[in-house]
Amino acid sequence: MPSRKSILEHWEKLLLESGVDSPRLSAQVLLAHVLGISRLDMLLESGASVDEPCRLRMAELCRRRMAGEPVAYIVGEREFYGFAFHVGPEVLIPRPETELIIDHLLDSLGKDSCLKVLDVGTGSGALAVSCANLFPNFRIVAVDISFDALKVARKNARLHNVKDRILFLQGDLLESLRTDVFDVVLANLPYVPLSTRESLSREVLCHEPEIALFSGPDGLDCYRALALSLRGAMKPGALLLCEIDHTHGQAMTELFSGIARDVRIVQDYAGLDRVAIVVF
Ligand code: GLN
Repeated sequence: MPSRKSILEHWEKLLLESGVDSPRLSAQVLLAHVLGISRLDMLLESGASVDEPCRLRMAELCRRRMAGEPVAYIVGEREFYGFAFHVGPEVLIPRPETELIIDHLLDSLGKDSCLKVLDVGTGSGALAVSCANLFPNFRIVAVDISFDALKVARKNARLHNVKDRILFLQGDLLESLRTDVFDVVLANLPYVPLSTRESLSREVLCHEPEIALFSGPDGLDCYRALALSLRGAMKPGALLLCEIDHTHGQAMTELFSGIARDVRIVQDYAGLDRVAIVVF
């Protein structure tokens, strides 16, 4: 029977030839998933042999990967802030840059803060569920327009035992919500300008939900609508944290400085504008 190492080498080569991103990592994550063990455990015993059913399953998953399907959808899971999240094609795959929002909360708030938090456009629930985990006294409302996305978010809340502390609601942005009760609003809304659609990778374009990515020709439709409903409707001192497109720093500052006390733009690890911090 072939070893884990030889299976990995075989598929890494084929994945590389098919032109997908991160062929080695993809092969490793997929084989670990097939074997039902962690990537580290798999690599530590790379000489162990792989039986026929696992080899066949690995071939099936690698073929999906070669056709461009993101690894997270194939294995049904992605890590965000050290927590495992269920993901499927109903939701955007959580991105590492979104972790900056959690970093900012951890830097600026005490772990024991008793705050009311709204996560608008929750998707997989990555932000809401991570917050519930990290801040045991937060009370959280998580909203999404997509019923299917909310199913995934609820599943993640169950997985992490925080279901009782997050109220999930279906809705279009803030419709029929009173926002002046919240201390913090989190928003990773769709922001990709339709005009830059073609610059996204095929992997994103063909597999991730368009409704979670695009927001009008310049990408600002959702944030404009959010600004409109938050005008005069936030507690003084309340905080809004938005993930933004790297080209939107200036536009977001202009959009929110008229309705808030302060707007600051924070860069991600690539040095690109990524988060707008708005204080009302
Ligand atoms: N960062 C994502 C991407 O570039 C977009 C996320 C979003 O629109 N909120 O694919």
